[in-house]
Amino acid sequence: MSINKKTIEDIDVKNKKVLVRCDFNVPQDDDGNITDDKRIVESLKTIKYLIDNNAKIILCSHLGRPKGEFNEKYSLKPIAKRLSELLNIKVKMATDVIGENAKKLVSELNDGEVMLLENVRFHKEEEENDLIFAKELANFAEIYVNDAFGTAHRAHASTAGVANYLPAVAGYLIEKEIDILGGVLDNPQRPFVAILGGKKVSDKIGVIENLINKADSIIIGGGMAYTFFKAQGFEIGKSICEEDRLELAKELLEKANSKNVKILLPVDIVCTNEISENGNAITVEANNIPADFIGVDIGEKTIEVFAHELEKAKTIMWNGPMGVFEIDKFAKGTNAIARVLANLDAITIIGGGDSASAIEKCGLADKMTHISTGGGASLEYIEGKVLPGIECLNNK
Ligand code: AMP
Repeated sequence: MSINKKTIEDIDVKNKKVLVRCDFNVPQDDDGNITDDKRIVESLKTIKYLIDNNAKIILCSHLGRPKGEFNEKYSLKPIAKRLSELLNIKVKMATDVIGENAKKLVSELNDGEVMLLENVRFHKEEEENDLIFAKELANFAEIYVNDAFGTAHRAHASTAGVANYLPAVAGYLIEKEIDILGGVLDNPQRPFVAILGGKKVSDKIGVIENLINKADSIIIGGGMAYTFFKAQGFEIGKSICEEDRLELAKELLEKANSKNVKILLPVDIVCTNEISENGNAITVEANNIPADFIGVDIGEKTIEVFAHELEKAKTIMWNGPMGVFEIDKFAKGTNAIARVLANLDAITIIGGGDSASAIEKCGLADKMTHISTGGGASLEYIEGKVLPGIECLNNK
């Protein structure tokens, strides 16, 4: 599916002041060093296009959760530094968002130059989608480009509100994400297998419901699986379970069955007495988890069953880890699935978030067709929800 919104190629950006909302919300270590610059790298295509077209480029983004006030820890200074290195030009860093310094830098900006505003979430008005704040941002520019796919599911001032005041178009990253995710959902090469993991069923109900209408099989691993086990009357010990979703889990299984969509649940489980590096790890049949134990990963047999299903697929979409992958000894299932995907010829789409970090950690990122820059945004998109940061853009 191609995006039905105008993109930067549909508007004349030459010599114009362009406000670009990027997603520079990157992980950092305790000293503020950027530990993964994928989101910055993914923003370069749009920025370079604007530089090549002699636009005056005003970038903005959020970083972390500074709760509406200035906090040096969440400053975008390290981003400006990294961007300068990647673009090989000096990116001017403002010391505020809509204050005197930002205004001065914007007024001094020459054609082809790039500047970065401070963290938009230093103002509580950002997340409130306050229109006065949005207008202040809009006043800096003649055109608004949204390229922050990772925040496109949020209706905030810089992701949506600002589009009320300026011609608003999509950047290359948003265009690419929608082309790929939309293409797979609308017209997948079959068999299309979806893999869902992670903790909460409640977060992924809409996703499962939508995928039942699109996928040929759905593999369910991670903490979500236990709610489905309990719904079928299995003993799940102390494993994570959403008691108020048991009925729903049953309904989803029935719905999938009636639509001939195969749902694959783990057949064996690695469980532990304690979720920590010190916890033990034993493998049991999925319907036989000891009362005092917590299921934390899929077992070897399950890996084989899942791999067998995946080997038949032409398209695979993966969202959510197969276990508590942050702890090495419970990461085997997640890592094994990553390796299976890496060795297949199929189209492999990773929905960002934890599955993306697991793949990066295994060094397999370049073996995937696409790793989304937006965990939450891609889930909401797969669920069929409208993303406000895209909805607000001008139609083609
Ligand atoms: P989500 O945000 O719903 O995608 O969940 C991701 C989190 O699920 C990760 O932090 C995992 O540690 C966690 N997770 C995966 N499997 C389990 C499990 N069996 N029990 C508890 N947490 C899990």
